[in-house]
Amino acid sequence: MASVSNAFDTTAIELAGLRDRIGELIGPRDPGYDEARAIWNGAIDRRPGAIARCSSVAEVVEAVRFARERGLLVSVRGGGHGVGGFAVCDEGLVIDLSPLKRISVDPAARQATAGAGVLWGELDAATQRDGLATVGGIVTHTGIGGLTLGGGIGWLMRKHGATVDNLLAVELVTADGERLTVSRDEHPDLFWGIRGAGANFGVVTSFTYRLHQVGPTVLAGPAYYPLAEAREVLRGYREAIAEAPEELTTILTLRHAPPVPYLPEAVHGEPVVAVGACYAGPLERGAQVVRPLKQLGTPIVDLLQARPYTELQSMFDAAVPHGWRYYWKSIEAPALTDAAIDTLIEQTTAVTSPNSYCIVFQLGGAIARAGAGETAFCQRQPGHDVNINAVWTAEDGDGARHVAWCRRFFDAILPHARECVYLNFLGDEGQERIRAAYDADRFDRLVALKRRHDPDNFFRANQNISPAIDLPGDFK
Ligand SMILES: Cc1cc2nc3c(=O)[nH]c(=O)nc-3n(C[C@H](O)[C@H](O)[C@H](O)COP(=O)(O)OP(=O)(O)OC[C@H]3O[C@@H](n4cnc5c(N)ncnc54)[C@H](O)[C@@H]3O)c2cc1C
Repeated sequence: MASVSNAFDTTAIELAGLRDRIGELIGPRDPGYDEARAIWNGAIDRRPGAIARCSSVAEVVEAVRFARERGLLVSVRGGGHGVGGFAVCDEGLVIDLSPLKRISVDPAARQATAGAGVLWGELDAATQRDGLATVGGIVTHTGIGGLTLGGGIGWLMRKHGATVDNLLAVELVTADGERLTVSRDEHPDLFWGIRGAGANFGVVTSFTYRLHQVGPTVLAGPAYYPLAEAREVLRGYREAIAEAPEELTTILTLRHAPPVPYLPEAVHGEPVVAVGACYAGPLERGAQVVRPLKQLGTPIVDLLQARPYTELQSMFDAAVPHGWRYYWKSIEAPALTDAAIDTLIEQTTAVTSPNSYCIVFQLGGAIARAGAGETAFCQRQPGHDVNINAVWTAEDGDGARHVAWCRRFFDAILPHARECVYLNFLGDEGQERIRAAYDADRFDRLVALKRRHDPDNFFRANQNISPAIDLPGDFK
């Protein structure tokens, strides 16, 4: 590309060229512009030159070519949940995939293909009609796009692997506007890269997943204990999950109990540790497996029970609504040592916002079994993913206070962590942190792949693998 400019003339004349090619193009002077540029994280306030709502692959190709011809910055929007806000850019062109909502499920082949604008709640609802599911995130309003391309962890991961381990193929529009089918057999180098660093190599317009028999009733939900008992609870939890079968995935949340309908009012606002679990197997066996998690102390509320899988998937939606302000820091802890447990409790006790929390995902199981180097996604070691989430509302003008709490928490947990972060839990934190999402081999291989497929870094509004990074000899 000769010259790279981020801005373009958003006068009606300039946009007209694109308006002819895209069904719905929203510029700064169009009604609905502010809604169209808003994403899940209300702390992000970017003003794109235009938003191209693409409702077909052909429109995505047009948008890519239009931006390419003019050297425009492009950002790609899936579900708009990336906390760093890369789905929208200032002055450039947003390729908004949200109209791509088509889902087809083949129960006999145990496969589903979903358009890139689909959200997890929509995909789960479609696949659960046949008692099937793939590994998705734990909040229904998150997009399948960004979550899949960064790896994908959730309630089914210890039994069925990461989301990328269940990805069979994608349709991709490259930086040159070419349409490719990418799978293990077609463009295998790209297939490796998109499974963990996917936003770097093109616009994925659809995803084909392997499905598994799941539920539709699973034994799942959180048991809430008072934070005052958290030391005993978390030490007991550590013992209880040490030999856990792969059907069991657990997630801890340390926070003030949110005012959600499934919790009694008396509990709202109380400091708690929630031990969440999902047993993805026969209910009778599951009852024995989860029993110790219900007896780690005196539960204030025990919601770990048989429920539809889709109900589990939507349980936490209300605690993380669109438009609130969010700031995250994340790291992996190899083990919940006594010192790590004490740190989690101390830092949660010092929380500055009733909406902030720390969430700890149990890794291991099937997710740790994929062969080394099989995917760019690299969170394969057993341990725990610690994600510290500062959350506040627009009315609370002092976001800096909550961000500072999140950073203090992160600094305090660092001595108990390993240098590894899950890409999808990263904010806009710079190159060093992106490197920490991969081991050295994977990172170098990604840079080499980026040089081959996007040497101009056309797709750079993302957790960017820059093609300009120096590589060791073998890769040059
Ligand atoms: C409330 C909430 C709950 C979450 N829970 C989980 C969880 O349980 N498990 C988990 O693994 N992660 C979870 N995440 C993290 C989630 O994986 C990331 O936020 C992810 O980026 C969301 O994808 P998206 O499509 O909604 O976001 P977007 O912001 O639209 O996209 C994120 C990035 O991916 C790129 N992108 C998106 N779609 C495409 C596409 N089709 N082609 C090319 N690039 C694309 C975007 O350009 C951007 O760089 C959660 C996030 C939130 C906010």
